Amino acid sequence: MQTLQHLSKHIVYLTPVGETDRPILAAVSGAKKTIIIDAGNSVQHAQLFQDELLQANISGNFLVLTHSHWDHVFGLENVRIPVICQEKTYNNIKDMQQLSWENHDLDQRVEAGIEIPFCADAIKLELGTKRNIDLPLPDIIFETAITIDLGDITCVIEHVGGDHAADSCIIYVPEEKTLFLGDCLYANLYAEKWNYTAEQALLLIKKIEAYDADTYILSHHEKPSTKQEMETELKLMKDCARLVVNYQGNRDLMEQELAKQLNRKLTESELETVGFFVNGYAE
Ligand SMILES: [Zn+2]
Repeated sequence: MQTLQHLSKHIVYLTPVGETDRPILAAVSGAKKTIIIDAGNSVQHAQLFQDELLQANISGNFLVLTHSHWDHVFGLENVRIPVICQEKTYNNIKDMQQLSWENHDLDQRVEAGIEIPFCADAIKLELGTKRNIDLPLPDIIFETAITIDLGDITCVIEHVGGDHAADSCIIYVPEEKTLFLGDCLYANLYAEKWNYTAEQALLLIKKIEAYDADTYILSHHEKPSTKQEMETELKLMKDCARLVVNYQGNRDLMEQELAKQLNRKLTESELETVGFFVNGYAE
């Protein structure tokens, strides 16, 4: 059951769904205007959010896309407000307009290694038999960054890229010390093995660390992360990026070194992160 969460007076969001890969959808409101973050993975998803917002007396004036992955853009069909996105996102959507999402074509793209089973399965589950996706092109395109004044509340949208998607953008709300990370901190899923590369990860982390935030929202995480949780996560990634180069992708040595530093056994999630860096080193 997805519910509308009130993070603060100015920020609400709809919780994600793992099975159908629905990301968080959010609304940031100032005295003048409201901006919606991401369009959702289907018209139904977008509609659910709109209905929830209506009940809370919120309506959007702009919509910004964090990146062009299907689960963030398939809800665009019924969006009647100006849509803002990064240049690469715009071009990706243009390319996606040519694609068919029927089983046969999805399976063929999975076979060819262009689509991944995880997304193909979620698309089938979310969309049922309605696979005719209308993807209107966004209206406002930026390259590096754009700032939106919502009236006493500001949204700074910056293109950060990274391993997950080259078009990833983050949205910073300085007055609320909140940073929407989209999917940018997740691994590259569109590869034979899910991975992080040391170079991209370090570049991305530097960009994230430039913002002073207390609350971090990752699109597929159930709950926002605190400053301390984010610092711990980013430190692990920085350590892995350094170790994977020092040990030339030797997983055992990386794990030993990390465990020694932490003075305990590594958790499942830490082991997974190490694995993603090892995969990225071999790429
Ligand atoms: Zn994504």
